[in-house]
Amino acid sequence: MDGKAAAKAWKLEVKQARYSEWGNWYSKITEFPAALVDKSGYILLPNETALEHDGIHITKQINVPRGISSLPSYIRMLADIPEEVVSSADRAFIEGSVERVLVNRYERDSRARKKCIEHHGAVCAACRTNMATLYGEDLEGFIHVHHIVPLSDIAKEYRVDAVADLRPLCPNCHAVVHRFNPPLSVEQVRQRVVRDRE
Ligand SMILES: [Zn+2]
Ligand SMILES: [Zn+2]
Repeated sequence: MDGKAAAKAWKLEVKQARYSEWGNWYSKITEFPAALVDKSGYILLPNETALEHDGIHITKQINVPRGISSLPSYIRMLADIPEEVVSSADRAFIEGSVERVLVNRYERDSRARKKCIEHHGAVCAACRTNMATLYGEDLEGFIHVHHIVPLSDIAKEYRVDAVADLRPLCPNCHAVVHRFNPPLSVEQVRQRVVRDRE
């Protein structure tokens, strides 16, 4: 992702958007309104004086030592793992270091989740982890649900099939899936689980 892509995805009405993964170093902004973007959110700069904010230093580059996410005006669009996406699911982006993935509403639809888990069980389809076995009984039933149909293959009238299109994944495996763009298949993650290799 770059600043432009984020501005478009998040519908920011800005003339310039600069991206920095960790939110601290940006090249200079010359047009306003502008946005500084990191992998999970942004700050809006309505005009040049907004750059005089505490926590922003201007040299040849714009330096925000603790990252833009430390600023009070920071708007968080994403959490770090898919289940925690809080923005409107249609335009939710998860940003890794080099890759971009989309997480869609099907993984968050509670009825579809329930059906998927009823059918496949609350066990990770990749590494077979049962969260309750690993972390304690009160985690019974806790699992992420991953949507295996690529978003690019989804037509407008698509309806999710909770059994065929969704798989339970533990949070680790789910994060690994979305660490890549395009996302890994459940089978690819399964083959990566070193612990289960012979
Ligand atoms: Zn797993
Ligand atoms: Zn997923």
